[in-house]
Amino acid sequence: MSDLSNKRAIITAGASGIGRVTARTFIAAGARVSVCDIDDAALASFMEEFPSASAFLCDVSKPAAVARVTELMVEALGGIDILVNNAGSAGPTANIEDIDTDDWSRTVDVNLFSQFLFTKALVPLMKAQRSGAIVHMSSAAGRLGMPMRTPYVAAKWATIGLTQSLAMELGGHNIRVNAILPGSVRGDRMGRVMKARSEATGLSLAQVEAEETAAISLGRMIEPQEIADMIAFICSDRGSAISGQSIGVCGNTEILR
Ligand code: NAD
Repeated sequence: MSDLSNKRAIITAGASGIGRVTARTFIAAGARVSVCDIDDAALASFMEEFPSASAFLCDVSKPAAVARVTELMVEALGGIDILVNNAGSAGPTANIEDIDTDDWSRTVDVNLFSQFLFTKALVPLMKAQRSGAIVHMSSAAGRLGMPMRTPYVAAKWATIGLTQSLAMELGGHNIRVNAILPGSVRGDRMGRVMKARSEATGLSLAQVEAEETAAISLGRMIEPQEIADMIAFICSDRGSAISGQSIGVCGNTEILR
């Protein structure tokens, strides 16, 4: 297990899904963790499981809310060493001509703009202490493309560019920036995505699932813990030379048509 003793970590959208498993992994590795999320009930459940952590309600795509919540999270932790920009939204499954403009903006804002907002707010603290690790959640789809999911893919692709540019900009301040590219991860979100694809294409759920796994060389879905373990490793001191990388934790996902 990676050692994160004495590290102070902020995880966006950490109340459920991959963010929550990452929080659990970080806490087990010795980190102090603060999460934010838009889902009140999930936050309450998070605090029941992790009474020593802190959790805040926030829509990560809203600048004023992020400005306020980052202050509260830093105060709760007494500083920050690690930022995991995990928040994301699958967005619409539709042909380009049928995508509502508000849905496009909302999807890009939750996936990409939120990463800018949190990084902008927290980098000054990392610069002042001359250390930090930032992880951006992209997606295997962000590198490969995927039909009918254009706003999501465009945002996840942009995340890779954001990561590489920030790694160059911040490396001299001893701040490392990396992106994780999960494949299809077992969990509620994948269930929702497959249902939407089934409705949009007329394929059965079983056919959609078969399609998903056929696109993965390992022939199976990825477990959330496999994503969390990689995040913990690159944020630990053992990952000290890793920056500017876009790391697939996807069983070698190939193009999904
Ligand atoms: P999820 O859909 O399970 O959502 C996780 C959390 O995000 C939820 O608690 C939800 O309340 C919160 N959230 C949603 N919108 C928010 C907002 N505007 N403000 C604050 N919180 C918000 O997601 P997940 O499957 O855990 O995915 C985590 C990250 O990994 C995302 O960036 C996602 O795009 C990426 N990813 C996931 C998969 C997958 O198969 N699950 C694959 C590739 C990439």
